[in-house]
Amino acid sequence: MSKGKFSDIKIEGARTNNLKNIDVKIPISKITCIYGPSGSGKTSLAFGTLVDESKRRYLNSLPNDIKFLWNIPPSADVDKIEPVLPVWALAQINPVVGSRPVVSDLIGATELLTRHYTLNGDFYCAECGGEIVKKSFEDFVNNWSRNLDDKEVIHFFIKKDAYKNLTPTGTPARSCKGKKSKIEDFNDDHAFWEVTRCRKKNISSALSRLEDFVGNSKIVFLIKVNGSQKNTEYEDSGSFCGDCSTPIFNSDFSSDKFNPLVATGACDECDGFGQTLDYDLTKIVKNETLTLDEGAIPLLTYKQFAHLMDDFKKDLKKKKINPELKFEKMSKAKWSILEKGGDNFCGLEEIYNYFERKKYKRSIRILSRRLKTERTCETCLGTRLRINKLSVYLSDLELSDALSSKINQIEATLKESSTDKDLSFKKLSFILETAKELGLGGVSLNRKVKTLSSGEYQRLLLVKILAQEGTGMLFVFDEPSRGLSIKEQGILYKKFEKLKAQGNTVAFVDHSRFLQSRSDYLIKMGLGAGSHGGDVVSVEKNKRKKITPAPKIVIPKLKSKSYVEFSEAKILDLFIKNIKVPLGNISWVIGDSGSGKSLFFKQLFYNHIELKHSGVKNFDLPYDFKRFHTTNVISKISYFDPELRTASSRSTVGTFLGFSELVRKHFSKLPVSEKLGLEPGCFSPNSDLGKCMTCEGRGILEIDMQFLENLTIKCEDCNGTKLKNDISTISDGTFTVDQSYNLPLKEVFETYKLTPKFAKLLEYTKLLNLSHLSLSRTLKSLSGGERLRLQFLKNLNLKATGEILIFDNLSIGLSGQELDGISSILKELKRMKNTVIIIDSNHYFSKIADNLIDFNDL
Ligand SMILES: [Zn+2]
Ligand SMILES: [Zn+2]
Ligand SMILES: [Zn+2]
Repeated sequence: MSKGKFSDIKIEGARTNNLKNIDVKIPISKITCIYGPSGSGKTSLAFGTLVDESKRRYLNSLPNDIKFLWNIPPSADVDKIEPVLPVWALAQINPVVGSRPVVSDLIGATELLTRHYTLNGDFYCAECGGEIVKKSFEDFVNNWSRNLDDKEVIHFFIKKDAYKNLTPTGTPARSCKGKKSKIEDFNDDHAFWEVTRCRKKNISSALSRLEDFVGNSKIVFLIKVNGSQKNTEYEDSGSFCGDCSTPIFNSDFSSDKFNPLVATGACDECDGFGQTLDYDLTKIVKNETLTLDEGAIPLLTYKQFAHLMDDFKKDLKKKKINPELKFEKMSKAKWSILEKGGDNFCGLEEIYNYFERKKYKRSIRILSRRLKTERTCETCLGTRLRINKLSVYLSDLELSDALSSKINQIEATLKESSTDKDLSFKKLSFILETAKELGLGGVSLNRKVKTLSSGEYQRLLLVKILAQEGTGMLFVFDEPSRGLSIKEQGILYKKFEKLKAQGNTVAFVDHSRFLQSRSDYLIKMGLGAGSHGGDVVSVEKNKRKKITPAPKIVIPKLKSKSYVEFSEAKILDLFIKNIKVPLGNISWVIGDSGSGKSLFFKQLFYNHIELKHSGVKNFDLPYDFKRFHTTNVISKISYFDPELRTASSRSTVGTFLGFSELVRKHFSKLPVSEKLGLEPGCFSPNSDLGKCMTCEGRGILEIDMQFLENLTIKCEDCNGTKLKNDISTISDGTFTVDQSYNLPLKEVFETYKLTPKFAKLLEYTKLLNLSHLSLSRTLKSLSGGERLRLQFLKNLNLKATGEILIFDNLSIGLSGQELDGISSILKELKRMKNTVIIIDSNHYFSKIADNLIDFNDL
């Protein structure tokens, strides 16, 4: 697959999702940007076609037993892709990771850092902090035996083979089976043979006789004391603690002993997880206000365990507890019967043991995971590291502390350390520096990946992929500019150029004008979304590549008579002398990530005004200021965050916007439903009336595999529809219930009579390019831009007046056309005398802003 043979990746007849049987070329060893409105097929082309097909072909070339660990993408609907390059891809939606990985694992720093530490660090005794002393065999024996009685006999053994090499004909008087076994009469089968023995007081003469043996570095000595057995082991060039004499062996210095990701370095207790997963008595009882028959303990109502219920009830009766009572009304003795069992009931311990034995069964795995709780590991205190004989330091920073430092801090420490700059050190530096440059310096290496915001997660994956080395590869990114300031985008582009210089091909989907203007090639998809998209509108070589710096922003600071003002505001290490936000206008807030713009507006500005206004405090970071002043009454303040942390994993487009309710009512009014007595709830996967009981209305079964990616399986009972089978197929003549939830919402509501409120909402979904979504799409599965616009819609109150509305990262994933839609709504909000604050690096907003707040200048 040399560059000479191919100059482009040729894609022919691509039909994934809405793609209209298109042919397109991606130039090899160039940087190509794919853009167009959302829903136009950019992602279908870049990921659904190019990435999936390349990945699938690669995975299919691997042996079967490795493959089962990965989701093999379905084959893409495409006639031909040539050549297929090895691909590195960063999609917007990434698989949920298990609960194990932390940030340093994600970016590959754990291994590199432990390696660097063990190669270049200073070792100390972990027991007492003493210095480690290299020593001769003589030192070792003297030190080891210094507390022994003079009359004690010491035996020296070496491995049988070594003995035979050195004295081919001789046989010793004694031998022993292994390191911990007793001294016995000579037996040819034993592994260790005695070289010599002596009393403690004569040790120096014995040592001189051992010189020959010690000269051979491969020989392991086993020294045993007669009487009170005290075995130890010496490895040549071993060391010991100068203070407490703990012997240290060569292998103790190996990096594997400090790496929590390998068995020899991971904490024994928690297997390097940092947390232990234990059965939790309180989880087995689901609802104490129910009786046993009503399902207080769901486990005992399952068919396979029903006999245990009878046993449990019998034992309760024996203790004079009425088994028909609500669980909470039973006396305390119930707990001990439950836990330890009685004359009939076997007790939970035995049930848990049964679960562990039957773990290979999927249903048992799911069941037992539900009964467990995570706790911080008491042995390693969450550091995930095995207890070692040694602590390793570099520039006064211990390894386990380094592994929990912030990226900034460890990057600075490593810069200072004047050690050999080997390859893996260079790679580590690159990773940490890139993370810092992309605004992630404040993130700790030991943060659980699960707790990151989706933006941070995305950028850390970006760091990891940018650190890949090699040539002839294809790198594909979805919306890499997300959350980055113009300056940071400049840094990102430089990294793209580095990949290109190494002979790689870069293709990315992005709306950023800045990145577009620098790319070698531009592919525009369109024209519209869904069935109106899926075409290549244009492919052009970007001849007028502008390498000019970001455009100068010319928005004067607005002098307004009405404003909100904070003076000498402090939060974390951010200090702002004075900040004035004019009321009734649109303010645009810019600054590098990490400059504190979101921190200030969310945790202080919004939090404080909301607290004064409604007495509700939404965030807990301590803050302080000297003066707060507002000229007008603020009727309400809102903060729009793209993260949507409050949405449950079950939230869908339909439940979020309220459209699902319309569908439920619509179907419950059909004659067939009235005849069967089906209420609206029967058509909801969130109601006991309608949901498939097997998957609890989730359509999938998800298992936390702890050490691997979560495993997701489609529910076989409802075939993923989430609803009871006889309900999902009811039809209103146009669509079935299942179709109503799964077709684009604009099609579904064409035949509905909508109230003015929902008619307006539907109109706005079209304006904001969201009407191609289906009601059943989970919020989790949406792109950042789609989620953001949804939330924007949901919280929009067009009757609002005198409110402050703060929008953080509003432009993520939005095309110019979508920004036009949002802008017209923002201008409407301003016309209604609201204050709009936009925190965003997209220069589009210079078009509508009345006032600029630049955090780089504050
Ligand atoms: Zn020590
Ligand atoms: Zn542990
Ligand atoms: Zn189901």
